[in-house]
Amino acid sequence: MANSDGTSLWIDGAWRAAAGTFTVSNPATGEPLAEVADASRTDARAAIESAAAALPAWSATPGLERARVLRRAEALMLERATELGRTLTLEGGKPLAEARGEIAYAASFFAWFAGEAERTYGRVIPASTANKRLLALRQPVGVVGAITPWNFPAAMVTRKIGPALAAGCTVVLKPAEQTPLTALNIVALMTEAGLPPGVCNVIPTHDPGPVGTELLQHPAVRKITFTGSTEVGKYLAREAAATVKRVSLELGGHAPFIVFADADIDAAAQGAIVSKFRNAGQTCVCANRFYVHASVADAFLEALTPLVRALTVGDGTLDGVQVGPLIDTAGVQKVEAHVRDATTSGARVLVGGSRPPHLTRGNFYAPTLLDGATDTMRVMREETFGPVAPVARFESEAEVLRRANAGPFGLAAYLYTNDLSRAWRVAERLEYGIVGVNDALPSVAQAPFGGYKESGLGREGGTEGMDAFLETKYISTVIRG
Ligand code: ADP
Repeated sequence: MANSDGTSLWIDGAWRAAAGTFTVSNPATGEPLAEVADASRTDARAAIESAAAALPAWSATPGLERARVLRRAEALMLERATELGRTLTLEGGKPLAEARGEIAYAASFFAWFAGEAERTYGRVIPASTANKRLLALRQPVGVVGAITPWNFPAAMVTRKIGPALAAGCTVVLKPAEQTPLTALNIVALMTEAGLPPGVCNVIPTHDPGPVGTELLQHPAVRKITFTGSTEVGKYLAREAAATVKRVSLELGGHAPFIVFADADIDAAAQGAIVSKFRNAGQTCVCANRFYVHASVADAFLEALTPLVRALTVGDGTLDGVQVGPLIDTAGVQKVEAHVRDATTSGARVLVGGSRPPHLTRGNFYAPTLLDGATDTMRVMREETFGPVAPVARFESEAEVLRRANAGPFGLAAYLYTNDLSRAWRVAERLEYGIVGVNDALPSVAQAPFGGYKESGLGREGGTEGMDAFLETKYISTVIRG
């Protein structure tokens, strides 16, 4: 059983100190929360070697047994959702209710991939001659290097390690420097659930460079799975090419949220709130730019304005708070720059538009609604990663499709319409990996999640999420008659 340290490196089934530590801070207060061991490149190598040593036994463990460990981990996560959620709020900032929701979502990946572990079938292939038997087997890809972001400190971890462990891979996980505590809590709980030593190692660090280099260069690592910025994703893909490591990437997005004239306007406004302001707008699938048909734009803004105004901003640990802080001051500065750029180019602030005056510390920005946005504004082209909803108008379906599909991103898109034919037409033509039709929250463990174009490579969740951690081996046998 894991002891309750939770701030050290977790290598080979034991808590280990590092040469130094780094400070994790609470984004709602700016105050230090914990001192966490700071992994070096040497620590990364030790973690990889531990994962490599654990691989033969774990990959030979029957899928049904691996599934049992994942199910026990799921149960423990749900049992402890309140305390896990509290740590998540303290290091990541999202309100407690949202944090508990994320823990349940995170646990659902263990449940889904436990099922997949039980159903990792191969294939019997018809032979060309009577004396041959042809088989395709699925085998674990090997040691996996997993790199996760801070905006979903639990779910991005389980969405990667769930399928990796289900497939029989072993893992070295490098969580984001802002939110390592949740990752350490999860691995402690998995150890309690019966995960053997070395199967999942966790190495937080304040400087991802050296640890990343070791993961990229060590020959035992056969797969890199990453969620984060497009820039870092491209770098990892380039470096992984040197040893042809498999790569899965979940990168940035810039989701269009389209409201047609025939939409249920109240449902669209409610959906806009959920999609835009969840996690203070810091999700890669959150609505970034709103395109509303000119004939209903005023009605939509009339419905949305009071909802945005009513959002309560503050420390996520306090009752009733719906929008927490941004992760750091750089996040707030980026939002400020986007809003400034939009307003100097002619956008009008309907709600917010500044830091909330009543919150004097922490990284807060007021929920903001902008009218009169145009496609050249930064807020309409770059990921804002903050609580800002820019609204632009359109006239025709063809025009809005063209505008929605412009740019390098292709992760999520949303459309609101009550016309079934239009829903199909537009959903099929959007160059996006995820489309929500009258649905602002489409993500579930059993469905494939991932991006077109520069938003990523491969899929997580669903059966596709399991494929990402499996190799296919073809075996041809000659038999005597
Ligand atoms: P964000 O802007 O959301 O912080 P990043 O892409 O910088 O996005 O971070 C996502 C994850 O990638 C984090 O775990 C971070 O530590 C990691 N990361 C950043 N740079 C590198 C790098 N050079 N090598 C490996 N991991 C990196």
